[in-house]
Amino acid sequence: MKKKRRAVHRCECKECQRHPYGVLAKEHRAINRVLAGLDEKSRRQCAGVLALQRGRGGVQAVHEISGLSRTTIRRGEREIRGLKRTDRIRAPGGGRQPVEKNNRTS
Ligand SMILES: [Zn+2]
Repeated sequence: MKKKRRAVHRCECKECQRHPYGVLAKEHRAINRVLAGLDEKSRRQCAGVLALQRGRGGVQAVHEISGLSRTTIRRGEREIRGLKRTDRIRAPGGGRQPVEKNNRTS
């Protein structure tokens, strides 16, 4: 089965409309080309990184550039920020049972 290709989103921000061949418009097109080639999770996290880099108003800016929902971008941000702490090797609940559960005496 052929994977359905996502169409490259076209940024509709003011800057791209004013200067369609400007540096920023080129950057926005590049971002959308990259995002279009990623799977859902990577796209979300990539958008999250871009939003984090932009700081205040970053989510709104990336939303305008990528057409991704603000909720999705915020989720990506959270995933990226929390990656160190939540990047578990084992799945939750994996591994040994807590000792209490093993030592049943009855
Ligand atoms: Zn733009």
